[in-house]
Amino acid sequence: MIELTGAPAAESLLQQARDRMQNLPVVPHLHVVRLGEDPASVSYVRLKDKKAREIGLQSTVHVLPEDTTEAALLALIDNLNGSRDAHGILVQLPLPSHIHAQTVLERIAPEKDVDGFHPRNVGKLWLGQEALLPCTPAGILAMCDHYQIPLSGKHVVIVGRSNIVGKPLAALMLSRDATVTVAHSRTSNLPEIARTADVLVAAVGRAGTITPDMVKPGAVVLDVGVNRKDGKLVGDVDPAVREIASALTPVPGGIGPMTVAHLMLNTVVAAERQQ
Ligand code: NAP
Repeated sequence: MIELTGAPAAESLLQQARDRMQNLPVVPHLHVVRLGEDPASVSYVRLKDKKAREIGLQSTVHVLPEDTTEAALLALIDNLNGSRDAHGILVQLPLPSHIHAQTVLERIAPEKDVDGFHPRNVGKLWLGQEALLPCTPAGILAMCDHYQIPLSGKHVVIVGRSNIVGKPLAALMLSRDATVTVAHSRTSNLPEIARTADVLVAAVGRAGTITPDMVKPGAVVLDVGVNRKDGKLVGDVDPAVREIASALTPVPGGIGPMTVAHLMLNTVVAAERQQ
């Protein structure tokens, strides 16, 4: 079984970002907004800031109190939308329950929306037009490209239909001529469907969701899930799947680094388009 580690695949995305930065008259500036002290958000934002600085981007993290009003958050976004010194804007999710996440995501100028969640970017993705792509699905595609995993004509089964992972990944896989099935919590015969996958993607958020009986021998399995189990980070895929699959992404160290690397590339792409 081949272990599809994220580091080398992420490095090629980061190199692309560094190379493209050289041709820009400005150093792209990423602004990340975080509300409150949710430990996972603190850790994800720290990672993004660190990676941005490492590759030579400008990075600013705006930390606001948990009880920040929606109006105050929208005012900050308006300010960043209008600033020539903000090329990429990302509001870390989840947001506290008194704030409407969709209102906030829709307020970010589409050309600065480096998470690719604005309806205009989502629509363009589905129409096959040039868009800022959501980082995890685009990172998954870059992982497939790096390890030369064929997608054209293959059956890709995506377990999970969130707006962040499952749905946009379906659009991207279609753009690569895969035949795509999207499964979810109401899918009645998941093991049967999963067993027909050449490429099986798990984006559920529950450890052990994908068991060996759900995997066709030789299939490629991409584990997007990040779960905490007995104090350790694990994916959605049962470790015994290693005996059945031809290739599997580890957790941690698989899709996670691809997501961060694609955010860096998106920031550079956004800056290019704003010139
Ligand atoms: P989400 O919004 O909670 O969506 C989970 C999806 O899984 C839903 O579509 C849900 O179906 C489906 N589901 C739940 N239980 C299921 C079951 N027993 N069988 C089949 N489908 C089931 O989560 P998300 O934001 O997409 O994230 C999914 C996982 O990926 C999480 O662990 C998250 O931490 C991780 N993640 C990792 C990265 C990374 O960079 N590595 C990035 C983003 C997310 P319904 O729609 O029917 O409820």
